[in-house]
Amino acid sequence: MTRYQLATEIFSLPRGREHIVYAPLQRTSLLVNDAALNLLADIAAERSLPRDSRTREVLDLLLELELIGPKSGRRGAGPTGPTRQPDAATPHERPAADVTPIPLRPTACTLFLTTACNLRCLYCYASGGDRPRHLDERVARDAIDFIVSNAVESEVGEVTVAFHGGGEPTLAGETLVHCVEHARRRCREHGLELSTGVATNGVMGDGMRDYLADTMTSVMVSVDGPAAVQDRLRPQANGGPSSAAVERTLERLSAGACSVGARLTCTSDTIEHVPAAVRHLAADYKLATIHLEPLFACGRSLHHDLQPPSADRFVETFRRCRALAAEHGVTVVYSGARQPSLAHAFCQASAPSFNVTSDGDITACYEVTGRDDPRAETFIYGAYDPAQRAFAFDDARIAALRRLTVDDAPRCALCFCKYHCAGDCASKRLYPGGEESVIARCQINRRLTRDQLEDALMGTPVPAGVEALTKG
Ligand code: SF4
Ligand code: SF4
Repeated sequence: MTRYQLATEIFSLPRGREHIVYAPLQRTSLLVNDAALNLLADIAAERSLPRDSRTREVLDLLLELELIGPKSGRRGAGPTGPTRQPDAATPHERPAADVTPIPLRPTACTLFLTTACNLRCLYCYASGGDRPRHLDERVARDAIDFIVSNAVESEVGEVTVAFHGGGEPTLAGETLVHCVEHARRRCREHGLELSTGVATNGVMGDGMRDYLADTMTSVMVSVDGPAAVQDRLRPQANGGPSSAAVERTLERLSAGACSVGARLTCTSDTIEHVPAAVRHLAADYKLATIHLEPLFACGRSLHHDLQPPSADRFVETFRRCRALAAEHGVTVVYSGARQPSLAHAFCQASAPSFNVTSDGDITACYEVTGRDDPRAETFIYGAYDPAQRAFAFDDARIAALRRLTVDDAPRCALCFCKYHCAGDCASKRLYPGGEESVIARCQINRRLTRDQLEDALMGTPVPAGVEALTKG
């Protein structure tokens, strides 16, 4: 029997004749040979170890790196590994609700000002513009007051107010401006910092362009590439082209004080144009990030027979775009690849985040914008009560949302990405019929996370003596 045990979760990934041994929670990755990997496997399986000096040398190094430790005698749930990657993912079942009330004190809100839209994007997840509804300004102000009072009570020095979809927020421009003014006033009264953000389709008048450029902390513009692609996928409501207006917006925002990002949705028949679009965006505008995502087939895309690109094609395109944008100092990101950070949840939905729909409901997910969404029972967890001028929450739904973490995702248990993609987007996972796309996203997540892991591995100084792990 060995005197050692694994001190943390360890994963192994083949790399040529060697293996990457990865301990995400220790932020440690190493290249090792078969012998060192087998030694770790023996320790994990509690098998007896060879007693030669070479083994001793490797054990000392693993102890120093805190990948193994002296055996504590405790058994049961503990570190696992080294494990190999699962080939596929299966949908994860939502845990049963626990009804323990837990206070909710958000200090950030996202306001879905309207479901009206001036575009009719062929893949719109929310079918924006089909049934216009507008958020009552009083509800929006009360949401801002709620987060401000939470920040004051919890002594958090800042609040965030953002404007997002269901439609195009700048179409409710007057409400948007009033909300920002209200938030500024309330923050001044309480000595709080204010961050503001907006996700927009970029089609707006010059007055709104100026306002966003000079007022917002950050602006994310959806744009799908060369004019022919943009105008086909993201036409105006009257069928007209949208590309020229979006380019004008990017130009104005680039000259402003806000941080600007661009988001491109890739389909199977537009992905060939994505590198050219990324080159243009990175070279000609002042962007902080360019965000690439494969299409997720839902909403309006189901009526237009649009398909996501294959995982292979997306990964290959992403790598190319990353290199092209890097020449201009711009970072290309994809939501499922985030090796540099550790997380138990993919996004704030499990916090849950405080997003107010145009109907005054509270949703944890940007993609679930109304009660008619099949995932509404999971993500809509509260509503505005006009009589009380307050928000009422469903404690059972909050408790269930808080369990939407990677710790409750059995399919992720053996995946080296588990503390990075953290189970990926719960909303996509719970979308009826989304299984294939979810599996493709897992493939993308693993390959792009592995790229980041290899970059980190190659850029990290080699600890003294570590060659002992790769020598024969
Ligand atoms: S994706 Fe956005 S811009 Fe396009 S139709 Fe939907 S809400 Fe409007
Ligand atoms: S951790 Fe991410 S990539 Fe891995 S199985 Fe889970 S969702 Fe898929």
